[in-house]
Amino acid sequence: MTDRLTFDAIVVGAGPAGVAAALTMARGGLNVIIIERGRFAGAKNLFGGVFYTHALADVLPDYWERKPPFERPVTEQGYWMLSPDSAIRVMHKSERYLKEPADAYTVLRARFDPWFAEQAAAAGALLITRTTVTQLLKDERGRAIGVDTDRPEGKVYAPVVIIAEGVNNLLTQQAGLIASDLPPKYVALAVKEYINLPAKDLQTRFGLSGPREGVAIDVFGDVTLGLPGTGFIYTDQSGISIGVGMLLDEFVTHRLRPYEVLERFKRHPVVRPYLEGGEVREYGAHLIPEMGYDRMPKLASDGVMVAGDAAGMVDALHREGTNLAITAGRMAGETALAAHQAGDFSAAFLSRYRRSLEGSFVLKDMKQYRRMTDFLESSPQFMGTYVNLLNEAALRYFTAHGIPKRTMEHDILKMVRERRSFTGVAWDMLKLMRAMRG
Ligand code: FAD
Repeated sequence: MTDRLTFDAIVVGAGPAGVAAALTMARGGLNVIIIERGRFAGAKNLFGGVFYTHALADVLPDYWERKPPFERPVTEQGYWMLSPDSAIRVMHKSERYLKEPADAYTVLRARFDPWFAEQAAAAGALLITRTTVTQLLKDERGRAIGVDTDRPEGKVYAPVVIIAEGVNNLLTQQAGLIASDLPPKYVALAVKEYINLPAKDLQTRFGLSGPREGVAIDVFGDVTLGLPGTGFIYTDQSGISIGVGMLLDEFVTHRLRPYEVLERFKRHPVVRPYLEGGEVREYGAHLIPEMGYDRMPKLASDGVMVAGDAAGMVDALHREGTNLAITAGRMAGETALAAHQAGDFSAAFLSRYRRSLEGSFVLKDMKQYRRMTDFLESSPQFMGTYVNLLNEAALRYFTAHGIPKRTMEHDILKMVRERRSFTGVAWDMLKLMRAMRG
């Protein structure tokens, strides 16, 4: 009989959640293996993306000295609300965003993920790439005891497995933590391009004074043809990340092709000038779980925990996911360390993980925005009617028609009333407040 390949802990997936878990456990002295199916960590990963440093600082307090491959600090951010030919732009800029390390940086995952995985390897974790975990191994009592992989004789054993497999949560299902695939109503599909632009053009167009300034813009309205969803434009070191995301069932119901929606966004008269002369260097698509708090899987069972996108930990309203993933990965890692100390890997012991998350912003925010996806789907007027109305109203307000201002105000009110009654507006605002407050 061959010896079993045994570790103190197995982590599935070298995304932010998995690496944070492995780093935490390796620094705590455990013998950890991270198994990643990509050619390298980050090879298969794509996001917007704005990366928040607070969660990274909690797992790697000296991250700044380790020179993370950030693109630009986010020193200006806000929203563009697009109608078919106009935009209302609400941007926030502050001196306080200029202090580094900043709260948020734009990041390209193909550069960031390998760096983050290297930090876990430096702490002693063993990173195995090009290897897919195909199965969760369980003992006769149903407790997780390891994983099988697509390698010959690829079984690996450990008393605790942390699943950080991202949105395609096959192992989470196998572990019995969630019943089935996410319905298309609760998964968004996002497409993104990275467009190369000389840094000088980028800075002039976005009003940046140098490489230590950057912009993050989230876009609503015509970007998704008035349907629930968002677009984004983020400045990288010498390029732009631009993308669009919508719930899968909206693409299906309205027979839209994701790539065409993105092309349409790029052709918008307000957006086009920012991209002129740029060269598309990368294109990709990725799913985002938007199941919300009420449909999240169980977070732990005997010998197993789940973290990050696999557990639906995303706050789409604030475009946060990586920080939830890293915080959850860290907490799963801390729980595994405590389980090793206690020699107890039971579901009862590992339920500490959920309690830690409940005390943190991760589950507090998930709970607060639990109704957001349903609210936006049932209230399309927010992305359509209201955005168009605001743009129309702005156009009238800012144009000198040669008519008295009182008449212009009446015209605007009449226009609102024609598209939505005042009671309708009041009711919508109440629903919005409820969805925001949880
Ligand atoms: P992932 O990053 O998906 O990592 C999972 C890893 O597991 C992958 O490396 C994968 O290859 C590996 N894997 C999967 N299955 C297996 C297996 N069976 N065996 C071995 N390896 C496996 N978040 C933000 O904070 N800011 C943003 O601006 C932002 N924008 C986004 C824009 C888009 C278009 C998308 C798609 C997402 C965005 N997010 C953003 C969300 C964020 O990317 C995710 O929440 C985050 O990446 C989740 O991390 P994770 O480690 O849980 O999963």
